[in-house]
Amino acid sequence: DELISQIAAGEVVERPASVVRELVDNALDAGARNVLVKLMAGGVRGVVVEDDGCGIPVAQLPLALKRHATSKIASLNELESVATMGFRGEALAAIASVSEMSISSRTADDNHAHRLDARSGELSAAARSRGTSVEVRELFFSTPARRKFLKTDATELAHCVEAVRRHALARPDVGFAIWHEGKLVDQWRAASSEQRIADVLGDDFVAESRAFAHSAGPLALTGRAGLPEAARSRADQQYVWVNGRYVRDKLISHAIRSAYEDVLHGQRQPSYVLFIEIAPELVDVNVHPTKIEVRFRDGRAIHQSVRRAFIDALAQSRS
Ligand code: ADP
Ligand code: MG
Repeated sequence: DELISQIAAGEVVERPASVVRELVDNALDAGARNVLVKLMAGGVRGVVVEDDGCGIPVAQLPLALKRHATSKIASLNELESVATMGFRGEALAAIASVSEMSISSRTADDNHAHRLDARSGELSAAARSRGTSVEVRELFFSTPARRKFLKTDATELAHCVEAVRRHALARPDVGFAIWHEGKLVDQWRAASSEQRIADVLGDDFVAESRAFAHSAGPLALTGRAGLPEAARSRADQQYVWVNGRYVRDKLISHAIRSAYEDVLHGQRQPSYVLFIEIAPELVDVNVHPTKIEVRFRDGRAIHQSVRRAFIDALAQSRS
């Protein structure tokens, strides 16, 4: 089972940033208002994510580490309408199989926190306020072949920060802070969506982009389309979320590229942020273990709407 877990972990956990992504997903699913990410050596030596969410009842702590144990959906039918970031119940088990992990958690009903050591299964009393802290130490320590594929600490750190930025842009209502080796790297307080975009991507991106809002039936698109000026300073900042989940999708990037071609006659690396909200039954998020890919029921409608939203935003900026 250890081996199966480690193999499964390969699909979910590629590098420290994958750990950050999964742990922050869990914090957000738990209703956190504030999420703290602490990293050591680019996350390779340590990733700690602390939240002020609902916490995990002590009786369920061991379950949280079990493969395919999720508290988020009870049946396959619910997958159609899943509103949480997680639902597969494999992240914590996968991460625990390739690291030294511990979870400390406290619910509103507890008078102190409990800490579970993943390897020994030992449960002890701990101190923290309501919420959960997950500590992941020495990623891939027992799988040197995997550890060998990690890049320098600086590169891994950059990936970790990028993972938090993706969450931060999608959840402006939540405060985020990232620390590395005891130093504050970035901090974003709860804000409006406009303000969060400025805080994360910079005032210059806001000045050099046009906001759009477009809705068509079960689909709502909002975001900002970068103008050519923005591409010079920040090429390749291309962010797309579907129902709050950061995704990479060829269909969507193609639609956007074709809008840029139409209006601006081609722009190699347009920068943009696009938030797609769609009725959950019209999109399958269970396509890839990391959920970075999605499948739309009506791809053509998505393509058309995305293209339209960007054409309108870009054409308006030229008049
Ligand atoms: P999933 O998120 O797909 O359910 P995970 O392996 O990521 O699976 O987490 C397993 C379970 O542990 C979750 O379903 C949840 O009940 C619990 N859990 C994990 N992290 C937290 C957290 N930060 N706060 C509250 N509960 C959590
Ligand atoms: Mg999860």
